[in-house]
Amino acid sequence: MYRWISCRSIVERIHGTDKRFGGKYIVDPYQKCDLCCVYCDASEDIIYIKHNAVEILINEIERIKRGRVILGSATDPYQRIEEREGLTRGVLKILTENGFPVHILTKSSLVERDIDIMKSGDVRVTISFSTMDENISRIIEPEAPAPERRLETVERLSKDGIRVGVAVFPLIPYVSDVDIERDVKRFKDAGASYLIYEYLELKGYVREKFFGKMERFFPEICEKLRELYRDSYKPKDYKVDDMIVKACKKVGLRLGYG
Ligand code: SF4
Repeated sequence: MYRWISCRSIVERIHGTDKRFGGKYIVDPYQKCDLCCVYCDASEDIIYIKHNAVEILINEIERIKRGRVILGSATDPYQRIEEREGLTRGVLKILTENGFPVHILTKSSLVERDIDIMKSGDVRVTISFSTMDENISRIIEPEAPAPERRLETVERLSKDGIRVGVAVFPLIPYVSDVDIERDVKRFKDAGASYLIYEYLELKGYVREKFFGKMERFFPEICEKLRELYRDSYKPKDYKVDDMIVKACKKVGLRLGYG
């Protein structure tokens, strides 16, 4: 269900510079997300559409200093409703016309629609994956494009000269890391210029929502995950950092934005 709301402000300033995504500001034209990933707290039944986001941005932009804007830190800017509303497209246009560098984070191939705008500005795109397994993705990211389709998006952006990278967000133990070496090579071959990752955190109601789905469809993986997350919201005793470093090194893929 969608609700249209008016916002009074659309640019959120980050104190200092964001370490994860390298930005100074955040802009989110939507509140919550309709791509329905089971591990995400932005996945909700009601999505709020800030219908006046572009007008408010036009007013606000004159009063702020240049700095990288993150589009998609809390919700996906290219979630399904964007196809109809076009708010992210409008926001991106204003930002690039005014010389603001932009970092877009998304799971959606709809981002390809706005390549024309990206070409006229300093825009970097990070496409996120939590698995390359189509069956698992269909269950845990039911409304997001299939991983293979996202990989095509990486390729398309790269071929069009847009700086593109990959985020393994979230890195789900026993799921995202089944064949890291193979996946990293595929990301690199598709044209990704960097890789970032972050382990799955399971907090609040998301924890049971995630385990519920895993238990029903992938009981064996679920059992191992429950054990791993028994006393913590993070997988404390589970690290695949060395494997990722090694895999990136092998194919020459930068770890982090640089
Ligand atoms: S696409 Fe991103 S913001 Fe949207 S539900 Fe999935 S993880 Fe959450």
